[in-house]
Amino acid sequence: MTPFSYRCTDCGKTYARDEVRYLCPACGQGYRPGIPLLGVLEAVFDYGAIAASFDRAAPDWNQFCAVEQAFHPPIPVGSTPLARVDRLGAGLGLANLWVKNDGLNPSGSLKDRASFLVVAEARRLGIELIVAASTGNAASALACVCASTGTRALIFVPEKAPKAKLVQMVLYGATVVPVKGTYDDAFRLSLEYTAERGGLNRNTAYHPLTIEGKKTAGLEIWAQLGYEVPDAIVVSVGDGVILGGVHKAFVDLKRAGLIDRLPRLIGVQAETSDAIHRYVTTGTYADAADPTTRADSISVTCPSNAHGARRAILDSAGLTLTVTDAEILEAQGVLAARTGIFTEPAGATALAGLAKLQAGPDRLTPESRVVILATGHGLKDVEAPLARIAIPPAVEPKLGALTL
Ligand SMILES: [Zn+2]
Repeated sequence: MTPFSYRCTDCGKTYARDEVRYLCPACGQGYRPGIPLLGVLEAVFDYGAIAASFDRAAPDWNQFCAVEQAFHPPIPVGSTPLARVDRLGAGLGLANLWVKNDGLNPSGSLKDRASFLVVAEARRLGIELIVAASTGNAASALACVCASTGTRALIFVPEKAPKAKLVQMVLYGATVVPVKGTYDDAFRLSLEYTAERGGLNRNTAYHPLTIEGKKTAGLEIWAQLGYEVPDAIVVSVGDGVILGGVHKAFVDLKRAGLIDRLPRLIGVQAETSDAIHRYVTTGTYADAADPTTRADSISVTCPSNAHGARRAILDSAGLTLTVTDAEILEAQGVLAARTGIFTEPAGATALAGLAKLQAGPDRLTPESRVVILATGHGLKDVEAPLARIAIPPAVEPKLGALTL
């Protein structure tokens, strides 16, 4: 680990590591559940020390990690494959396309990265209960990592979360509280719980190490591309924390002098869950009125990291766009059939956005090096693709019954 401090992404004030836990004490006072987080903290490392000692031939990723290795949970997380997908790229006019398949994390989603680091932090602090609100994946991830350490997990989840995710949480041994309401209601309730009754809150972006955990996906992309920065990374966006985490990876690398430019970040939202897209394109924030998307992992009224996500898009000269549920489910099928990668609807949202981009005037050039981040495994929600495909009927077990 490299020494680090926290800096407020709104006012710039810096704090020693153990001086703060969640939001900037000054800016966070203005925060109340129901608005995007204010005073989100970022970890600022000793970049000079990293620059002096980082070795591409034998990279020590702990130099970018905010919790000492001694506290890391035993379950391996991350190091997911980056698959070159030429068959998919050919259809999009892209000669250099990859998919980072984060559905291959232990609980089946990128959220394992954030949970891994927050559980490590809880162990460092000697806290035995971690509390989270989630649309499903973050809760499954927390329950999974906690199972490897014996840490208690208390999870507030919208009652409509996909069954596979609920099964995961319960089976991993978490205490699961389905909430009659939305993700935003669960988020508020979890904040009230930790404020009144204790435990470490793992809510996304609220705990700064969730962003630090997710940044490891970006660090891996850089390493897997032979320590080259891709031209663009396409990310589905709900709360905006994965986008923020990927951005932080390349910001850290740039601050350490290991790269000289950022990849363009292309954020893709579902049409009905488009608060960040509208914020980026108009400069004015407003909640999503009715986030009914089938891509449950990115269905959110009020994205907690709206401000950070907007900064990440602008800082990287990126862009945002929205897609329909029909486009998402079609992309899920195309991705599966052309790459062998089965990602959940939220993961396929990134491809749906890239396909839309490539069909329009802002398309990426054919030689662009582009990475799609597939954030969760398709088996987490098998009901979603059934809206688009049909399972063939059974036949008699006789050759004559086959028309093939
Ligand atoms: Zn502040």
